[in-house]
Amino acid sequence: MNNKIVETASDAPRASKPGRIIRDPFGRSITYLRVSVTDRCDFRCVYCMSEHMTFLPKADLLTLEEIDRVCSAFVERGVRKLRLTGGEPLVRRGIMNLFSSLSRHLQSGALDEITLTTNGSQLTKFAADLYACGVRRVNVSIDTLDAEKFRTITRWGDLKNVLNGIDAAQAAGLAVKVNAVALKGVNEDEIPELIDWAHGRGMDMTLIEVMPMGDVGEGRLDQYLPLSLVRSRLTSRYSMQDIPDRTGGPARYVRIAETGGRLGFITPLTHNFCESCNRVRLTCTGTLFMCLGQDDAADLRAPMRASESDDLLHAAIDEAILRKPKGHDFVIDRRNQQPAVGRHMSVTGG
Ligand code: SAM
Ligand code: SF4
Repeated sequence: MNNKIVETASDAPRASKPGRIIRDPFGRSITYLRVSVTDRCDFRCVYCMSEHMTFLPKADLLTLEEIDRVCSAFVERGVRKLRLTGGEPLVRRGIMNLFSSLSRHLQSGALDEITLTTNGSQLTKFAADLYACGVRRVNVSIDTLDAEKFRTITRWGDLKNVLNGIDAAQAAGLAVKVNAVALKGVNEDEIPELIDWAHGRGMDMTLIEVMPMGDVGEGRLDQYLPLSLVRSRLTSRYSMQDIPDRTGGPARYVRIAETGGRLGFITPLTHNFCESCNRVRLTCTGTLFMCLGQDDAADLRAPMRASESDDLLHAAIDEAILRKPKGHDFVIDRRNQQPAVGRHMSVTGG
């Protein structure tokens, strides 16, 4: 797939200069950076990884200092929100040093928020430290409240441990949002129960449609449950009122009258969010993906390592942002069930 944008001389966009807000060729400001700090994980969720994953050699990874350097370059250029993800971000050794060092941008006012998406397995250990580093919100992924089903979905996960992690996060003062992937024939009957549980504990919840990313050794069509169907089923039980989405991402939110809580629907197979897309994604090897659903990417590791100054890094960021596509090409191929995007979600981060 060639995603390069062909420009005529008259409408060719200009690269932003360091110190200036980064704007892509479609006028979208890039204010949100998601960083996958590791491709490794202590779970093997069936929709995300195969059981026997080959992970990247450790030597290929950016050091934590290098991740800080790239994040800081983006902050200098107008990024206001950072999300650390993975793989499982909290299994990366020394990860609290990264949170701690990035927190200087919160203190200076350059950043509005540092947050993370986690499977919750390490939250009992790290919740208080995260709060101390200025983190105020976490997304925790949990697809079922049935311990056995949880084990089947995650292959290696322990539900009790994750529930204890959520308790610890709330006790530390972190707002928790629950992410649940809607899986056909697996948790589809349990979704109202999950919503009642999350909202009952003061947690927002977001349902995610399965995305065709990476070979996971199972048929995507077996897992795919359209959220349009889930939503229409939920209307027989709840009154849901649309509320405006201000995240710039693929989530659409409703307020549920019966619970008072917020419910989001992430439907990445639709194109209803690309025009407001404000984000780019950095992998743990320093590759920048301008769109979750496209293969085009830019290497930031080589320019960063080539010089002690950040000039080459900023130039590489400028060049990459000029290639940010207008939208994605997610499709579940019904003939051969190949993933639309070859890399796993754990590489780019969810
Ligand atoms: N390990 C952390 C976790 O599970 O929250 C962070 C990384 S995980 C890749 C981020 C999110 O992506 C999780 O909510 C997970 O459920 C979701 N995810 C992973 N693979 C997916 C896929 N193929 N389709 C949709 N969501 C997926
Ligand atoms: Fe690990 Fe998160 Fe992927 Fe599950 S979804 S295997 S917890 S990275």
